[in-house]
Amino acid sequence: MNDTPQIKDLIAFPQEVVVTSHRNPDGDAIGSTLGLAAFLRKMNHTVHVILPSEYPDVYGFLKGIDDIIIYDLEPDKADVLIKNANLTFCLDFNSLERIDKVGMAIKESKAKIVMIDHHMDPEPFYDHGISTPAASSTCEMVYTFIKDLGKDDLIGLEIGEAIMTGILTDTGSFRHNTNQETYYIAGALKSKGVDDYYLQDKIFNSMTEKQVRLLGHCLNNRMELMPEQKTGIIFLNKKDYEVYDIQRGDTEGIVNYLLMMKHIDVAIFVRQQPKIIKMSFRSKGDISVQALARDHFKGGGHKNASGGHAYGSLNKVLDKIKSVVPDYIPSLN
Ligand code: 5GP
Ligand code: MN
Repeated sequence: MNDTPQIKDLIAFPQEVVVTSHRNPDGDAIGSTLGLAAFLRKMNHTVHVILPSEYPDVYGFLKGIDDIIIYDLEPDKADVLIKNANLTFCLDFNSLERIDKVGMAIKESKAKIVMIDHHMDPEPFYDHGISTPAASSTCEMVYTFIKDLGKDDLIGLEIGEAIMTGILTDTGSFRHNTNQETYYIAGALKSKGVDDYYLQDKIFNSMTEKQVRLLGHCLNNRMELMPEQKTGIIFLNKKDYEVYDIQRGDTEGIVNYLLMMKHIDVAIFVRQQPKIIKMSFRSKGDISVQALARDHFKGGGHKNASGGHAYGSLNKVLDKIKSVVPDYIPSLN
């Protein structure tokens, strides 16, 4: 689905715009919102970026990030802006549940809703949308959107760095999810002066000592393998959250270590957070963790990278995961 022509009409004259993305924003959520917001400002719109919850410190270097309004911290201010907008862009998510209270405010607002997203199975909450599950990232889609409008000459360093950030983070530095466009776009951004080495260093060489020690704890003490199912699980319990003082962003990327093992095709990372048990699923090749997350853990995402959640005891959730995983591995069925 690609409503670029209709969206072009909507932005043909200056608008009051809100750009938003999902809770616990990652590099793609932050990069795509900042990149699109900067572009729309260049097109003379008034733009506010509102995110449901705080972003990891590592993205603090991106231009424009200090102007982001966090709904959790300033709900009244955000509500007014959402109410007064006549256009709302929803980036890098495809169901209003992913943005909870922001979603309720958007639903009540009279603003037209535009979705730009690359996850599977979009819910029809928008007026116009671009949905490209084959895209590496929403950032890639933002680039393509701007290019399709014939405005790529407006992409300078600020927009370029934001877009490159989401491409780098959603592809794990070009290790997965890429298509030929991804490389063309990265090349185009580089020719505009975007320094990918600088960005990689800022984003990936930024762990704190605590985060590295937590990673060690996960690999040493919290990893379980199910060799028959080619599945690896890492879990963190409530106590771990206390002992390691785990904060937003501290568990980012840990799930990927499981897939570094030759005989592991499914990686599952389970976190017993204070109110909810969150899960990250990753897979190789034909195995759809999207189906697993959707069918059993009220989640979804991409075929090879999805998330979900559950309530109740950690052990019960781990047992449930172990019992349903085999159903999603084609070679076992
Ligand atoms: P992560 O494991 O990194 O949090 O998320 C992996 C992918 O799954 C991301 O694309 C993310 O947007 C998606 N995702 C994570 N949690 C959920 C969820 O609860 N519901 C849905 N539909 N998607 C999710
Ligand atoms: Mn994304």
